Amino acid sequence: MTDRYAVIGNPVAHSKSPLIHAAFARETGQMLSYGRLLAPLDGFADEVARFAATGGQGLNVTVPFKLEAFALAHECTERARRAGAVNTLKRVGEHWYADNTDGAGLVHDLIENLGVTLGGKHIVVLGAGGAARGILQPILDAHPAAITVSNRTMARAEALAREFSAYGPIRAVAPADLGNVASEAHHVADVVINATSYGMLDRPLGAAPCPVSIFAPTTFAYDLVYALADEPTPFLELARRGGVARSADGLGMLIEQAAESFQLWRGVRPGTAHVFPLLRKLAA
Ligand code: NAP
Repeated sequence: MTDRYAVIGNPVAHSKSPLIHAAFARETGQMLSYGRLLAPLDGFADEVARFAATGGQGLNVTVPFKLEAFALAHECTERARRAGAVNTLKRVGEHWYADNTDGAGLVHDLIENLGVTLGGKHIVVLGAGGAARGILQPILDAHPAAITVSNRTMARAEALAREFSAYGPIRAVAPADLGNVASEAHHVADVVINATSYGMLDRPLGAAPCPVSIFAPTTFAYDLVYALADEPTPFLELARRGGVARSADGLGMLIEQAAESFQLWRGVRPGTAHVFPLLRKLAA
C-alpha cells in the first residue's frame, strides 16, 4: 500500500504542500500520496486520530493547529519542544513523533537562498503565534545581536521573550513603539520578519502589525505569508512604502520547511531549486 501523508489545517484548500511533496517524491523516486485534510476548528485531535486509524503515516500541520499538535504528540525534537508548536507529525508505531521544521526552513531560505546575514544583526519578529514560536530558536542559533518580538496581544510577545531569553538576547516591544526601535542607533532593524497572519488570504486585513517607520532602506523585509499572485503581499507593500529595497515572501520558507519534513518522514532531503519555478508559475 502507498504511504499516505497530508497537510491538516483550517482553512487548507489553498495549501501548496501537496504540490511540493509530489515534486519531492518524483525527484527522489519515493512512492507516496499526499493530500489535504480540513479539520473542524474544534475537531483537530479527532481528525488526526481518524487519519492514523486509516493508515496515515505523516502530517504537516498548519494554521491554527500547531499548538494543539504539540499537545497531542507523544515525543518530539528539541526544537519542537522549545517552540511548543509543531508543524510535522510522523507516525511511529502507535504514537506521533513531532518536529517543527518552520524555523529551519526560514533560516535556510534567508541564509542559503537569499544571502541574508543574521549573525550580529538586529532582527524584528512580528507575531507570537505558532509560526513565531517555531522560528525564534533557529534565528537565535544564527547568533543575531538581538531579537525584538512584537505582537498585537502584547502579553503573548512578553511571554515568548521571557521563555526564549535563556537562549539569547531577546526582548518584547509593543507594536506602537516599534518606530523607536528603528531610531535607536545600535538597534537598526536589519531584518523584519512578519510572522503574523496579517495579509493572509480570505482574512480581513485589519491594522498593520508594525508602523512603517520600523523600516530603513537597508532593512530586509521577509513575509511568512506568501504571494499567490505576482504582486507584493500587504506586509511587503508596507515595507516598500518604508523604503525597503530587498524583501521576500514566504514561498521559500514553505518549500524549505517541506523539504525538512520530507527528510524526517522518508530519510532523504530532496533538492528544492526545481520547486520554486513550479510554484511561481502557478502564481503567475
Ligand atoms: P497563529 O498561531 O494563528 O498566530 C497568528 C499571529 O498573528 C498571532 O500573533 C496574532 O496576534 C497575529 N495576527 C493575526 N492577525 C493579525 C493582524 N491582522 N494584524 C496583526 N497581527 C495579527 O498563526 P501562525 O501559525 O503563527 O501563522 C502566522 C502566519 O505565518 C500565517 O499567515 C501562516 O500562513 C504563515 N506561515 C507561513 C509559513 C511558510 O512556510 N511560509 C510557515 C508557517 C506559517 P494575536 O496574538 O494578537 O492574536
